[in-house]
Amino acid sequence: MGQSRGIVAILLVSLVALLLPSIDAGRAAPARKVAKVRLKPSPALAKCETPKFRIVVDVGHTPDSYGALSARNDPEFGFNFRLARLITTKLKSEGFAATRLLVTDGKARPSLFKRVGSANEAHADLFLSVHHDSVPDKLLETWEFDGANSYFSDRFSGHSLFVSERNPHFTTSLKLARLIGRRLKEQGLHYASQYTLPVMGRYRRQLLDKDVGVYRYDGLVVLSRTRSAAVLLEAGSIINRDEEMEMNSAERQELIAGAVAAAVGEFCERR
Ligand SMILES: [Zn+2]
Repeated sequence: MGQSRGIVAILLVSLVALLLPSIDAGRAAPARKVAKVRLKPSPALAKCETPKFRIVVDVGHTPDSYGALSARNDPEFGFNFRLARLITTKLKSEGFAATRLLVTDGKARPSLFKRVGSANEAHADLFLSVHHDSVPDKLLETWEFDGANSYFSDRFSGHSLFVSERNPHFTTSLKLARLIGRRLKEQGLHYASQYTLPVMGRYRRQLLDKDVGVYRYDGLVVLSRTRSAAVLLEAGSIINRDEEMEMNSAERQELIAGAVAAAVGEFCERR
């Protein structure tokens, strides 16, 4: 998710999060009814029949509202699209035939509700949102790339995973996020630990698993409004100049996609 050029998207997400309690309070009775229905796992989620298990791999952001800008001025959306497409291919090759790549268009805020609507209409069992990380604007430094004034921060690197306690399948989401984090760790990759630091300001998050890097992010629309289990993966930092190059490499993309597919496979075997 982008904190530099994508700051507007983040602010909108925060705004929506702030609005949620009042919206829910306004229709308390039906909301409780819906919550009961939502808590009932679908047969595919309960048993995890691989060919029927409906996974929606969400490409974070849209071509119009592309998220963060990398240290070399490439939009986050492109990074998200390439990795999400590869994750989809890997999952299908592992037998998850009902996996679908979700690309959303339009402006940032409506796109959040559009993607949640698509996943809910498709009766998804699992929603996996794929992003690439940046840093808050105040941490950005300037350099010249390709003749243009550009921004970077080499201070932080690594992937991170987010889940929401407001999701009706929070426990399942956390379980899956941990499995993904474990697989990434086994591949020698490290997680982004800065989200607990005061320097992150409004982006500070509670670390739920300090071993493999799973954070709690309750206000995120795509995690809290989806009826399926939901996990958001920040695959790596594209504002870090070295890590951006790694995220661009086929080797790193294969490594991450393979780790995610293996984790989902393990998740199913255990059910
Ligand atoms: Zn993003």
